[in-house]
Amino acid sequence: MKKVNKICFIGMGLINSSLARTLKKKNFYNTSVGTSRSKKTLHIVQSLNIVDIVESDYIKAVKDADLVVIGIPVKAYTNVLKKIVNYLKKGAIITDVGSVKLGVIELVNNLIPKNVFFVPGHPIAGTENSGPEAGFDGLFEKGWCILTPDKDLNRKKVNLVREMWELAGMRVDIMDPAHHDMVLAITSHIPHIIAYSIVGTVSNLEATLKKEVIKYAASGFKDFTRIAASDPTMWRDILLLNKSSILKMLSIFKKDLATLEKAITKADGDFMHELFSKTRKIRKDVIK
Ligand code: NAP
Repeated sequence: MKKVNKICFIGMGLINSSLARTLKKKNFYNTSVGTSRSKKTLHIVQSLNIVDIVESDYIKAVKDADLVVIGIPVKAYTNVLKKIVNYLKKGAIITDVGSVKLGVIELVNNLIPKNVFFVPGHPIAGTENSGPEAGFDGLFEKGWCILTPDKDLNRKKVNLVREMWELAGMRVDIMDPAHHDMVLAITSHIPHIIAYSIVGTVSNLEATLKKEVIKYAASGFKDFTRIAASDPTMWRDILLLNKSSILKMLSIFKKDLATLEKAITKADGDFMHELFSKTRKIRKDVIK
C-alpha cells in the first residue's frame, strides 16, 4: 500500500487519538498533524507523542494534507469546515468518524469545494471515556467500520479510506447513509437514550431512595450508568442530527414496551418467558 504523504486529524479525542496511535505504529503516512479546539487538549496530545506535529491553527493543520480525518461532535462540523474549506489541497480526501451519516453528508457536501472528496465513515468502536488520554491503540481491532460514500465518488478515494480502517484492524462495509442511520438508531442511539433516561429517573428520586439505588446498584443499573456516562455534547449532537430515524425506532420501541407492560398487568408469564427466551438467543448471537 502506498503511504499517505500528509494526514491531518481534526479533533484529538477518544476516536481520532486512537486512530493516530494505530496509524503511527502501522507506518501509514509520512507526516501526521493533530489539531484540536483547546490548548489543554493540544498540550496533552503533545505529551503523548502520537502525531508528528501538534498545530493549534486549523488552516495550517490542513495545508497540503492529502487526507483529513474529522473527529469532533457532529454539530460542530459546520464551524470548523467553514474555517478550512478554502485551504484544502486540490484532490484531498476528507473523511470523518461521526456517528450519524445523512445529516453530516448534507452539511459537508454543502461546504466543500468540488475538487475535494468526502468519504463519510463511522468506526463502530468506542468507550464511555473521552479525550486524547482515553484513546488507545487496538480500539478498532476486529470491529466494523461503515463507509457511506456517494455512489459516483472516485473509487480510489473510497479505497484509501477503506485501507486505512483495515490497517487499523476493522472490517469495512459500504452502506447507504439513511440505512446506516436507521440501523445505528436501534443498535446504539436508542440504548443510549434508555440509559440516559433511566439514570435520569434515579437522579430525580428523593435523596434517601437515590442513595440506596446507588449503594445497591446491581449489574443491570450499573451497566446503564456506564452508558449514561458517555460524553453529553457528543450524544446531544447525535440525537439532534439523527432525529427522524431515532423517532421512528423509538415509536416501535414504545409499542413493544407497552406490550410488555400489558403482559405484566395481566400476569401473562408465557408471553414474558417467550420474549426473554428470544432475547437470550440474540445475546448469544451477538457474542458469537
Ligand atoms: P471526544 O473524546 O469527546 O473528543 C472530541 C474532540 O472534538 C476533541 O478534540 C474536542 O476538542 C473536539 N471538539 C469538541 N467540541 C468541539 C467544537 N464545538 N468545535 C471544535 N472541536 C470540538 O470525542 P470522541 O469520542 O472522539 O468522538 C468524536 C466523534 O466520533 C463524534 O462525532 C462521535 O459521534 C464519533 N464516534 C464516537 C464514538 C465513541 O464511542 N466515543 C464511537 C464512534 C464514533 P477539545 O478537547 O480541544 O475541546
